[in-house]
Amino acid sequence: MTKYTINRAYDVDDFRKTGHALVDLLADHLQVLNDNPNELVIRYRNPDETLQFWQADLEASKEGNDNQLDFFRNVLNQCINVQHQRYMGHQVSVPAYTSALSGLMTDLLSNGTGVFEMGMASNAMERIVTDFLAKKIGFDTNSTGFLTSGGTLANLTAMLAARRAASADVWENGHTEKLGIMVSAEAHYCIDRAARIMGFGEDGVIKVPVDEKFRIDPGQLEAVWQKTKADGIKIIALVGCTCSTATGSFDNLEALAEFTAQKGIWFHVDAAHGGCVVFSKKYKHLARGIERADSVVVDFHKMLMTPSLNTALIFKRGEDSYKTFTQKAQYLWDAEKIPEWYHSGKRTFECTKLMMSIKVYSILRTYGESIFEENVDILFDNARTFARIIEDRKGFEIALEPEANIVNFRLVESSDERSNTINGLIRDALIESGRFFTVQTVIKGIRYLRTSIMHPFTTEDDFHALLDEIEHLRVNL
Ligand SMILES: *Cc1c(COP(=O)(O)O)cnc(C)c1O
Repeated sequence: MTKYTINRAYDVDDFRKTGHALVDLLADHLQVLNDNPNELVIRYRNPDETLQFWQADLEASKEGNDNQLDFFRNVLNQCINVQHQRYMGHQVSVPAYTSALSGLMTDLLSNGTGVFEMGMASNAMERIVTDFLAKKIGFDTNSTGFLTSGGTLANLTAMLAARRAASADVWENGHTEKLGIMVSAEAHYCIDRAARIMGFGEDGVIKVPVDEKFRIDPGQLEAVWQKTKADGIKIIALVGCTCSTATGSFDNLEALAEFTAQKGIWFHVDAAHGGCVVFSKKYKHLARGIERADSVVVDFHKMLMTPSLNTALIFKRGEDSYKTFTQKAQYLWDAEKIPEWYHSGKRTFECTKLMMSIKVYSILRTYGESIFEENVDILFDNARTFARIIEDRKGFEIALEPEANIVNFRLVESSDERSNTINGLIRDALIESGRFFTVQTVIKGIRYLRTSIMHPFTTEDDFHALLDEIEHLRVNL
């Protein structure tokens, strides 16, 4: 069996042996992280050094290299550990292990999923998990949705649907009018990109000012609308943030729904991060009004424990999801009978698609739906705890009271200018020391360390230890 290289790539015995060894390697790694909070979150190397490492590695393996375990170990060494309870950086879930194992399985099976036969299980499960989410959002049985690769693509797809709703023949003829989308000044940059991709240009992204808590100020909507109209731009949609990326602020969706109903435009909610609150009795109120949206995006890979990427786009009226990419004559669907839900490629931007649904379904099936509520409540509660700990520590301040699991704070210095410099240096030093991972953001000209509390096992001790570490780095700057 080993005569040809191609045979070696499909050697079942090797798969079995290496697969078991890989699972052992990963389990040992997780055990080390769990037992030692002082283990590094990231072993930082600079980009060029990292590139040289891998160039040399492949150079040395020109004739092939049987030692797959060494390779896996090296990858592990150069990855950031989102499974570490002191990882508090970008919003990426700690994948539930069953979900990650489903990932191994789906990678091997590689069902393309775009049409039913190319993913029978994944298409059926996709229907189930999106219907489940739709129900949690508060949509009725007319609703339907699908999974797609990431919030960025899902938001673009929603905007394409909104454009289609505003102009029935845009898919055939393009648009001659100037079109625009109203969006929070704090929206994720992908909404801006979506508008530009659709050819709306810079003028087509109409930013609505926010209040002191970084939520769209509903009092500004009418004035922005009138001004945009006077500029000759037809607004096709308003996008609400549930929640914003920088500060985790939740827009007042009821007020936004009121406005879009009055104007007869599409209401989209970018709930990539904060849509998870629909699973929580305690925090659901933050997304009150979400059920009035025409479309909603929720990232399972942010707060709902799947590996990236895994995103749901849910439409209030299922038929809207079928119109986006079809020509005029083809979209005369019967609204009662949602057509061909099982060919997911009809509705997604993607053709071949990952078997994402299995990674959500496996969590639901193994632990029941309460697992999502538990995760959301722990992470949101912990952010509030962290905010109190920061406030109690001399020399630190929070930017604002957290609504989600995002906490922005800084070391206070003699002036804002000095504070901006010092907090920037601290952030760099934190990455290099590798004992914690945080990011940074600038709010109204002030630099803050930005943390998203992502690991359900992060403790108060970890929060205190982070502030200790920052004080220590400050002294040694
Ligand atoms: C993360 C995020 C996005 C982008 O989603 P990806 O899955 O990273 O493509 C968009 N909007 C909001 C509010 C987000 O938090």
